[in-house]
Amino acid sequence: MNRRTLDPTREPQLVIATHNPGKLREIEALIAPHGFTALSAGALGLPEPVEDGTTFIENARIKALASAQASGKPALADDSGIAVDALHGAPGIFSARWAGLGKDFGMAIERVHTELAWRGHGEGAAAHFVCALTLAWPDGHCEDFEGIVRGTLTFPARGERGFGYDPIFTPDGMTQTYGEIDPYEKAVTSHRGDAFRQLEAGCLHP
Ligand code: IMP
Repeated sequence: MNRRTLDPTREPQLVIATHNPGKLREIEALIAPHGFTALSAGALGLPEPVEDGTTFIENARIKALASAQASGKPALADDSGIAVDALHGAPGIFSARWAGLGKDFGMAIERVHTELAWRGHGEGAAAHFVCALTLAWPDGHCEDFEGIVRGTLTFPARGERGFGYDPIFTPDGMTQTYGEIDPYEKAVTSHRGDAFRQLEAGCLHP
């Protein structure tokens, strides 16, 4: 498949279509080795579009296109979330919304725990994180990628690092939660790292 590529020697600034500082830190760490610097949508004062897509990729496209068209520069958006098997994939694309307007992830984690308990599940429940990345250009062209990491849930939450649902997620093959491991190790091995490697192979200038 022919992908449109980005060349950091010609376009060193990449707009990161997020207002989430946790995602921004991880994406900055992923793009920096390629010679890109991040301009965040939050710092540019770009509005947050309504995410009314029905899939991670649809929502990533909405955010990437809104930032690319408002800034006139290529923009990268991440739409991501956690899907819990015993909750039929919830919270999924509603992962941020489970934290409410106050972005209270303690509350979101408690809801996951409570809903699992109602169904007779808890510690060790299977879950996966999904990350859709869309790179959009001001002319409306988009390139999409989706990454995943599987793991299990840990209660009570452990670790102060990371963001969102990180303190309850232990990736398969590891013993520490994403709230405990080194943030760089998380960024490169996670769902975001998986999606980014595909983007790297498809769209970043060699
Ligand atoms: P959205 O992509 O802006 O809709 O928000 C996704 C939400 O999913 C975030 O606010 C986090 O709560 C959660 N999420 C996505 N990726 C991660 C991650 O790497 N760690 C923890 N939580 C995540």
